[in-house]
Amino acid sequence: MDLKEFEKNAHGLVDWIVRYLESIEEYPVKSLSQPGEIYNQLPENPPLEGEEFARIFKDFNRIIMPGITHWQSPSFFAYFPANSSPPSLLAEMLISALGAQCMNWETSPAAAELEERVLNWLRDMTGLPSEFEGVIQDTASTATLAAIITAREKITGYAVNEDGFSGSEKLRAYCSTEAHSSVEKGIRVAGLGRKSLVRVAVRPDFSLDPEDLERAIVSDIKNGYKPFMVVAALGTTSTTALDPIREIGELCSKYGIWLHVDAALAGTALILPEFGWMIEGKEYIDSFVFNPHKWMFTNFDCTAYFVKDAASLIRTFEILPEYLKTRTRGGVNDYRDWGIPLGRRFRALKLWFVIRSYGVEGLRELIRSHITYASELAGRIEQHPMFELMAPVPLNTVVFRFVGRGHHNTDSLDVLNEKIMHNLNDSGNLYMTHTRINGKFCLRMVTAQTNVTLDHVLRAWEQVVETSMKMETE
Ligand SMILES: *Cc1c(COP(=O)(O)O)cnc(C)c1O
Repeated sequence: MDLKEFEKNAHGLVDWIVRYLESIEEYPVKSLSQPGEIYNQLPENPPLEGEEFARIFKDFNRIIMPGITHWQSPSFFAYFPANSSPPSLLAEMLISALGAQCMNWETSPAAAELEERVLNWLRDMTGLPSEFEGVIQDTASTATLAAIITAREKITGYAVNEDGFSGSEKLRAYCSTEAHSSVEKGIRVAGLGRKSLVRVAVRPDFSLDPEDLERAIVSDIKNGYKPFMVVAALGTTSTTALDPIREIGELCSKYGIWLHVDAALAGTALILPEFGWMIEGKEYIDSFVFNPHKWMFTNFDCTAYFVKDAASLIRTFEILPEYLKTRTRGGVNDYRDWGIPLGRRFRALKLWFVIRSYGVEGLRELIRSHITYASELAGRIEQHPMFELMAPVPLNTVVFRFVGRGHHNTDSLDVLNEKIMHNLNDSGNLYMTHTRINGKFCLRMVTAQTNVTLDHVLRAWEQVVETSMKMETE
């Protein structure tokens, strides 16, 4: 494809994108594709000769599009938002066009310096302590893994990096029973073993119980273990429960433990001054992660990872082969030393475009509206005699279930709610997922897609009510 052809195709694609986004509500939100359906339409062998783009794109529309779930639909209420936005899309085009590998400062000084600047913006926007330094990671899972490894190195005097595990460490980490699976995965990958992660009980609002945390720490110390890390969830995955940072932080400080905060989804709410209480006690935090690629209108991937002591992060991850030596080393940020991968995309550009296009106030307005929609929905659920709200709704996630006329047992309610969910999702009008609360199957809706309006939420609610009543009598 020469540049002339590229130009023609690129203009065509932009037209396609605009039409797609304009008409996104006409697609089934969740792909109705069956397993194997896409694979079997793809030829067994690659083409030997190059093909026309028009042909390729025709197959994209014919084969690929039916197998796409439309995360950018305003009726997408499943999992978590993976929000895109027009300025983010434009940045992605430029990032691809530049194709820069931003591993060192020298491999694109603008990428490194823009990253430093926009992460300072983000730090200040979210109210994190001013001494924190930030770096973009691919995912929250990777950032949490980086935090675990850094904490492991710090507590062992950087010995595991050097000698491997000697077996004498007996390290212990803590998180609540509601913490995200990435914590356990990070613990496993860091070589600590799943059993070194202690699950602490939660309070009735599903936030970590600090009394149980202290009990666990004290008992572990007595038994010869070395507590080295607590991962607090600021917004658990099931219900966006908020762990108490100050109380956890005081324990971490008392016992010399690293405090990592996983705010992957909910961290964006911190740009609202009225939600600053969420990180009350922030002076105790050692590391903090949140995903602009979830709720801040910046295409995946873009995770913001902040640390109090960047030197320990760098000491943990830096490695300097001859071919990566540069003249500027030490005087600039070489972000390859701030995490696991060497190669890095120019992701700061997306954040810069998004923050400048919306402005901080524009971002706040959208985030506030999403939170309002969730509480509007929660209010309707509470008022409805046949539904039960299953958890508090501090932010954008609403967990509930249908109880009907009240003559069902627990098992049949689980089955009924699951059927309701599949029926709703198969309708194509909306997409939601589920969770379990105290063992009970619950419906879960996140009202945080970039373009969601109250109208979308209320229409979805109407369909939930209608479908539930219908399925109960079937
Ligand atoms: C989504 C989520 C994660 C994982 O995020 P990735 O960026 O996909 O790794 C971790 N923790 C919480 C609380 C989440 O909501």
